[in-house]
Amino acid sequence: MVMHRKSAPLIMLWMLLLPLATLHARPKDSGPYSATRAYYQRLITPAKPDIAGLRLFFTLMPKGGDIHQHFTGSLYAENYLEWIQREGCWISKSDYSVITPKDTDRLKDTVSVKNLRSNRAMSSDFFTHWSDKDYANHYHDQLPPDAQFFNTFIYFSKIFNSNRNYYREGLLKLKERAKNENVQYLETMFVSPGYQKSDPVFDSRARSGVINIDNKDFRTLLDSFLLGVTRDTLFNDRVHQYRELVESSRKGVDDENFILRFQSYVSRNSPPSVFFSGLYTAFYEADKVNGVVGVNIVSAENDPVALGDYRLHMQMFRYLKEKYPHIRTSMHAGELASGMVPPEELKYHIAEAVSVAGAARIGHGVDIAYETGALSTLMRMKEDRIPVEINLTSNEFILGIKDEAHPVRLYTGSGVPVVISSDDPGVSRNSLTEEYVLLASRYRYSYDEVKQFAANSIIYSFLKKDEKERALLLLQKKFTEFEGRIADFARRK
Ligand SMILES: [Zn+2]
Repeated sequence: MVMHRKSAPLIMLWMLLLPLATLHARPKDSGPYSATRAYYQRLITPAKPDIAGLRLFFTLMPKGGDIHQHFTGSLYAENYLEWIQREGCWISKSDYSVITPKDTDRLKDTVSVKNLRSNRAMSSDFFTHWSDKDYANHYHDQLPPDAQFFNTFIYFSKIFNSNRNYYREGLLKLKERAKNENVQYLETMFVSPGYQKSDPVFDSRARSGVINIDNKDFRTLLDSFLLGVTRDTLFNDRVHQYRELVESSRKGVDDENFILRFQSYVSRNSPPSVFFSGLYTAFYEADKVNGVVGVNIVSAENDPVALGDYRLHMQMFRYLKEKYPHIRTSMHAGELASGMVPPEELKYHIAEAVSVAGAARIGHGVDIAYETGALSTLMRMKEDRIPVEINLTSNEFILGIKDEAHPVRLYTGSGVPVVISSDDPGVSRNSLTEEYVLLASRYRYSYDEVKQFAANSIIYSFLKKDEKERALLLLQKKFTEFEGRIADFARRK
């Protein structure tokens, strides 16, 4: 396979820009690029890397984009509390869910945000439900980490149903946070498509027989189901609502130094009809709605439905990629660990996402070392320039995969492009900066490699070509400023 045609010129642009500092540097150079590289090297070289020094370094370093980020999971529980209070809602004392004035049967056992905040024990307990906070302290009777993590999403949606303005406010909060840590682009999984259709007859037929779109009966089944979807008046209404939400929420958010884009997505833990109608709507929206640049598949990959329907989902992606070849997909795949699922479930997920579903990017890819076709998948990802989005904190918490067990070096060692991302910084209570600190302190990538990871987040984003070129030039400008500051600091101290 040849290099991915669309990204090749951009990689060349970045490679041309990258050595500028070195080319201009004098021999035994004291130029900003070399001084920064040397400064960084001193931070990661000791047996125990200088974590505080790396925090300062990566807080200031331009990081390009965060392109694997879930909107609701990126906001902190404190943000939600503020809105719950403003909206005149309460928190349930029994399960910490949001109670609105409409929940007339549940108004008794509630606490106001003000009283919650003033009750230290209750407040601590609230945060353990709404995020991973204090999990490592064994503060409460523990859920398994994957259940703890994914359960938090149960809480988030209700406040947005109360007042849709919080979508915009949340996006502005994420923008402010991004700019504060020198991130210039967010590609966030915003909301799932508004339309989904349940059809139990389709569900049982889709799960039986040959699951492959090369099979005539299977293809006919998908064709006729989609015909029903497109004839449903609700479909157009919901797409219209989705478009309005996207347009009103992102209006005026982009500026000279910041770009926001969305992915639509569908949950892998729904019946086949709900999944397929949602996935079709997601592709349709990515095609028709400005600002929506891609499609993803989300939720716990180890749940029984996700495992049982995995091959079916990949065929559904393949079918829709035929209809919408220009729509790009980033797919959560291989977010699994040994012992979490039976061994045979670790054998094929990334391979199928790449070779069947046509993923343009892989999210997580943690179980690659167990896959039967790992060698050819890695070669394919290298040659087709299909990057893996690495989420170190999330993988450590949900899967217990960290340090030497994490496959990030397997990917970089195989020549697969790598992107560093945050996944759910609100739930994990982390940031993109902390992801880089972990990466550098654990795996000691060189400064040039780290810089390439930052550039990859633009090169492999789903921005248009001209937008990418502008974003890369901005990133290069930011690096020049950054290296100037670090070099100055290193010289004076
Ligand atoms: Zn994710």
